[in-house]
Amino acid sequence: SWTSVGEMLDEVADRFSFQLQQRRIDIAIEVADEIGEVLLDRDKIDQVLDNLVSNAIKYTGDGGQITVSARLSDSETVEVAVKDNGIGIPKKDLDRIFERFYRVDKARSRNMGGTGLGLSIAREIIKAHGGAIVLESEYNHGTKVTFTLPYVREEETA
Ligand code: ATP
Ligand code: MG
Repeated sequence: SWTSVGEMLDEVADRFSFQLQQRRIDIAIEVADEIGEVLLDRDKIDQVLDNLVSNAIKYTGDGGQITVSARLSDSETVEVAVKDNGIGIPKKDLDRIFERFYRVDKARSRNMGGTGLGLSIAREIIKAHGGAIVLESEYNHGTKVTFTLPYVREEETA
């Protein structure tokens, strides 16, 4: 359905407002003005955003910073990024992070809940949407997950 990218990102922040306040984590939403409305499967993209923001919260210390941003990487592609300044992921785990059930060392994940499926589901959803998803991380510094979506505007479907 037609979705305002700005509203969609504001709403994901709203869904986590209680946890964010409890953990004193600040969330910044930055959306390039020119994006406006995009055609996408809102439920599926919300599922991706919910997982990425919940990961960012789980793996970021109290008082941390999360930034969710959207821009046009070119005239046909929207790029959405969820960035945190949390505990990061060791280099040796990066290759496997999108595998089903893969979680970085059980000790740190034990208390966090979750099954290790979120990122693999996110990748399937983004692929089915004709986009791509990548994760960059620096251990002890933070993580950034970026996904793309085809930029389908109203004029193009009229
Ligand atoms: P689920 O999403 O099924 O509830 P999960 O969050 O553990 O469980 P994924 O979302 O697939 O599973 O993430 C896989 C693993 O990648 C996590 O267990 C965690 O170790 C690591 N990870 C994911 N996002 C981050 C992040 N933002 N910072 C640090 N580590 C992360
Ligand atoms: Mg997850």
